[in-house]
Amino acid sequence: MAPNSPQSRHSTSIGPSILVKLKKLKKSKYFTLSYYRNNISFFTTIFVYFLIQIVLSIVQYYLYIESNLAVRFARVGGILLNFNSSLIILLVLRRLVTWLRNSLLGRNFLPVDNFLKFHKFIGIFIILLSILHTVSHCVNLYWLSDEYKGLKGITSLNVNNVSVVSKIISTLSQLNTTDVKFGHTDGLYQLNSSNKTHYVSVSSAPYVELLFTTKSGLGWILALAMPTGWALWFILAIIELFSMPCIRKKGYFQVFYYTHWLHVVYYVLLIVHAKNYWKWFILPALLIVFERLFTFIRVKSVKYGDTYIKDVNLLSSKVTQLIIPRPANFKFKCGDYLFIKVPKIARYEWHPFTISSAPELKDELWLHVRSLGNWTHKLYDYFQDVSKNQTNELYYTPARKNGLTLETKYERRKSKYVVMVDYRKSSSLSQTNYSTNESNNENRFKKNLNLSSNIKNIWMEIAIDGPYSTPTSRIFNSEHVILIAGGIGVTPFASILQSLWFKYAKSLKTCPGCSHQWYDQMDKKKLKRVDFVWVNRDYQSFEWFIELLGQIELQQINSNKDKRFIGLHLYMTSANKVQTIKPLDSPDFDKNGQIETKIDHFTLQLNPGRPDFDQLFSEISTSSSEKKIDVFFCGNRDFGKHVQKKCYAHDFKFHKEYF
Ligand SMILES: Cc1cc2nc3c(=O)[nH]c(=O)nc-3n(C[C@H](O)[C@H](O)[C@H](O)COP(=O)(O)OP(=O)(O)OC[C@H]3O[C@@H](n4cnc5c(N)ncnc54)[C@H](O)[C@@H]3O)c2cc1C
Repeated sequence: MAPNSPQSRHSTSIGPSILVKLKKLKKSKYFTLSYYRNNISFFTTIFVYFLIQIVLSIVQYYLYIESNLAVRFARVGGILLNFNSSLIILLVLRRLVTWLRNSLLGRNFLPVDNFLKFHKFIGIFIILLSILHTVSHCVNLYWLSDEYKGLKGITSLNVNNVSVVSKIISTLSQLNTTDVKFGHTDGLYQLNSSNKTHYVSVSSAPYVELLFTTKSGLGWILALAMPTGWALWFILAIIELFSMPCIRKKGYFQVFYYTHWLHVVYYVLLIVHAKNYWKWFILPALLIVFERLFTFIRVKSVKYGDTYIKDVNLLSSKVTQLIIPRPANFKFKCGDYLFIKVPKIARYEWHPFTISSAPELKDELWLHVRSLGNWTHKLYDYFQDVSKNQTNELYYTPARKNGLTLETKYERRKSKYVVMVDYRKSSSLSQTNYSTNESNNENRFKKNLNLSSNIKNIWMEIAIDGPYSTPTSRIFNSEHVILIAGGIGVTPFASILQSLWFKYAKSLKTCPGCSHQWYDQMDKKKLKRVDFVWVNRDYQSFEWFIELLGQIELQQINSNKDKRFIGLHLYMTSANKVQTIKPLDSPDFDKNGQIETKIDHFTLQLNPGRPDFDQLFSEISTSSSEKKIDVFFCGNRDFGKHVQKKCYAHDFKFHKEYF
């Protein structure tokens, strides 16, 4: 073949590209054993999910074996739609998911972290099933229509099973023929003779009327199956269309959010459309009612609803730190998130944010909000204006009820709570001591973090709904964890690192005789080692939590242990050489002379560029004494996918949370 012939050009250009693709595929995560080991509960669930549907399909198919093929397929599609329409909503009931994640079932068998992905998959599957269901019904109705039979205007009988013709005719002859009405099931009139059901179809309308009116007789309520079917299609199309990433992720999240509420209409129509759907919907309906009621009560109740933003810090890279007095009895775990609504910014918008403070911080909740889109920018700009004007006008804003200022209202409630806590404390001596230590630690922590708020005592109304769990809440069940954060994805890990700081501080013991101090065993469940990797573009972003990291580093130095419990690996992608950052002005751990000299020159190292995960993971795994290493990632999707691939290559278990 001539080198320049079209064929040769064709083969040389396609050949390498296929090879490259094959090589890429071979390198992809799907070709690693680790990928399947990592996702075993996911694959088991998928297997069970399809198995249930295969069984349902077979049973349904044989139940309608006497009907024509179109009816059989329509029925199979129908039952699968019932199943999937009920399942899809269970996967996004946040309270149920939070409860499941912490349960034995969720920890060991159910892929709770993949529920959202599964929800999206079922959404698409519902569309495919709807196509099957609708096309089958359309074909069946066509076969029943006047057009198909060429019997326009003439009533006809069409018996599916020839062997029973005589029986049906004799059954019909016993009936008053004026009583025979068109269509009770799938456009077929049912005649019960002996122990069998025979289907007789009677054509009575043009195709268009059968499709779009109640003339088909389909449906259990006023023969509304066809009109409601088309309405369901309309709703499904809107929901699917506005769920696409180009809407959801490109600044139109609220459009996605509100169109998703059409699911309520979807369920009402589905109950009218399909005779048996209400039976499938009982369990989801109960859970939805429970979830909504619980949320409503929490948001509205005095305990959780009347909450205020007390202080605000405007941090570098347009991050707003909100400090909220922690409502009484508000319990949460490291890595949990909240939905917040700030009426001053938008009356009806709820946005999710991870709690960046530790559960040990008893009187405050922190949220770090990066300015990304409309709402978050508005929040930052609002407080920037306040800080410029510093009128403190809000501080004196009277509360709507009783003419109290928001602060006095809060203080009153808080004082009630404090009395209650004091009473409980006095009933147990050990608890009192423990609490005192704890509050000392809290004060020390806040002091060391130099928490000077830009805007103090703003007392601005905020509603919170939560907490809800994330994969990160499993950290204390692992032995060795690598926490990897990209940018603001640091928030769940900030909570964990703070919590570890508190646990460390709590384990600090002092000899009553010689005042010698040492760190005892920490209460950290299974956790034996933590490596924290934080990747930021610029220097300023490290400032969000650099004081916290400094405190942790100091604790490590002071603990005087051979092995570090927490390893810090910080990366600045815009740098081309190693940089340092000085976190602390006045450390208060300078009791030991030897350590003091270190503290004088105390800095943290910022590595340039992106981490080389192959190298980093190899180093960590060589130095680790634990067999199992779990990686928790929080950041953007592309970065996450890269880390995931590396995890599979190193046989680490990967958990992710994308913002
Ligand atoms: C579980 C969770 C925890 C989060 N924690 C933090 C955090 O600690 N700090 C932080 O800065 N950001 C966090 N985010 C992201 C934060 O919720 C969004 O950045 C914020 O809602 C953007 O709103 P916007 O109107 O400014 O931007 P938009 O332009 O409207 O949206 C920007 C992006 O945020 C997402 N988003 C917007 N509104 C919502 C919503 N109501 N619910 C879910 N996603 C939404 C959209 O998918 C979009 O991709 C978290 C998100 C989730 C899901």
